[in-house]
Amino acid sequence: MTVAAPPITQLTNYINGRWTESRASEWLDVVNPATGEALARVPLADAAEVNAAVGAAAAAFPEWRRTPPEDRIQPLFKLKNLLEDHLDELSRIITQENGKTFTEAKAEMRRAIENVEVACGIPMMMQGYNLEDVARGIDETMIRQPLGVVAAIVPFNFPGMIAFWFLPYAIACGNTFILKPSERVPLTMHRVFELLEQTGLPKGVVNLVNGGKAVVDALLDHPKVRAISFVGSTPVAKYVYARAGANGKRAQCQGGAKNHVIVLPDADMNMATQIISDSAFGCAGQRCLAVSVAVTVGEAQRTFRDSITAAAASLRVGNGLDEGVQMGPVITPKSKSRVESLIGVGEKQGAKVLLDGRNARIPKHEAGNFVKPTVLDDVPRDSELTDAEIFGPVLSLVHANDMDEALAFLEHSAYGNQASLFTSSGSAARRFRYEAPAGNIGINIGVAAPMAYFPFSGWKDSFFGIMHGQGRDSVEFYTEKKVVVERWAKEHSRKF
Ligand code: NAD
Repeated sequence: MTVAAPPITQLTNYINGRWTESRASEWLDVVNPATGEALARVPLADAAEVNAAVGAAAAAFPEWRRTPPEDRIQPLFKLKNLLEDHLDELSRIITQENGKTFTEAKAEMRRAIENVEVACGIPMMMQGYNLEDVARGIDETMIRQPLGVVAAIVPFNFPGMIAFWFLPYAIACGNTFILKPSERVPLTMHRVFELLEQTGLPKGVVNLVNGGKAVVDALLDHPKVRAISFVGSTPVAKYVYARAGANGKRAQCQGGAKNHVIVLPDADMNMATQIISDSAFGCAGQRCLAVSVAVTVGEAQRTFRDSITAAAASLRVGNGLDEGVQMGPVITPKSKSRVESLIGVGEKQGAKVLLDGRNARIPKHEAGNFVKPTVLDDVPRDSELTDAEIFGPVLSLVHANDMDEALAFLEHSAYGNQASLFTSSGSAARRFRYEAPAGNIGINIGVAAPMAYFPFSGWKDSFFGIMHGQGRDSVEFYTEKKVVVERWAKEHSRKF
């Protein structure tokens, strides 16, 4: 007897407190990158569905902004507990749709929860300031008020965390919110919104619209959307920033990256190797803070080259849900062939392939998008590999005679998301912290991911805007300042 396969789930949107079937004419399969199996179908919604979400969010705003901040954070406390209770379930969904290992998925969800915890401090963080007697008998006060309807558009590489750089702060500040997840990994946020539904948030305060460019464009053009938070690749970040600006919206747009690490000869080589290996190959190199180029200085060249190649070769690659697996697949077959072709370009342009991860075969996972860890040595300065964001498990090694030469590699890069240094010298560390042209700096740290109470500070083509995600910057971004100057004549007060 043959048993029919269960029907594939068709995802819905969450608008005005209800799960709403999409009228989309286009749908995509959500595919497990380790197995090639279709997990669900996601609608590519249109402008009408965005209009419905914006309408619901706009209708919910007047009452939500009048809700005292202390009451607005109560659903977030509930959300924190729900996320803790469902941590393993959510992490499993992340691994299934994104491919990263279960351990990496859990670590991602911890950072998500951390942002909920920080946003619970809004009654303190959102306070303004005041001064009596700015002139005789006149007082001045700065008040922060929410903007209204705000939206976030997020990428595939952190299906659970990145929405939380925005959502908790936006609603705690009194805004109403629309999320557009990545159409490649929409399942995690679908489950998160089922949990949000249990927190007692009034209808319309949080909304979820699945889709791609059409949804983004409708959000960018809708006059009632006041602010856009975006995380993704640089070309799209630039486009979103420009179109949001042209429509008079405030925008914070985080873009792509090409992160450098400098290894000095006085570094603890065992520690540096371990940490840089995790940074370059963790999440299959699909982290915006992944180290992509290692610049060895002087004698560090030989020792580091040998140790990093051995460490990379020892990593166990496979399905992130399997015990002991240290690295999963890249997101799509297209991404796998792009990464493999860039390795080929580097080789043609003169780089030596010390470890070749192309044509990986993982037993029982022939349909998975696996690229094994790859190490390239002596990558020429003018090679495409030196500049392009690869977003795969590929580490390029380049060499410098001193710190000046090493820093020149960083200066040359169009990106400035993260830069790291491995050393035991305090003065080298201070110089690096002072001069490195990037927003997130690691000293003996491989993934310098700011905690939720610090801003996620990309520079150059890695960020467009002023206020970053997370922490105090979020409060600045999601509120408008109002200044009140008051005079009360004495005669009136004498009456009472
Ligand atoms: P992406 O730019 O392809 O997509 C990001 C979002 O934009 C998605 O929701 C997608 O639907 C939407 N989108 C895609 N093309 C669009 C278009 N033409 N017009 C309007 N919207 C569009 O990025 P991705 O592949 O999902 O994510 C990987 C990228 O994100 C990498 O470049 C990575 O460095 C970057 N990233 C940056 C940070 C950071 O903090 N700077 C964090 C994570 C990821």
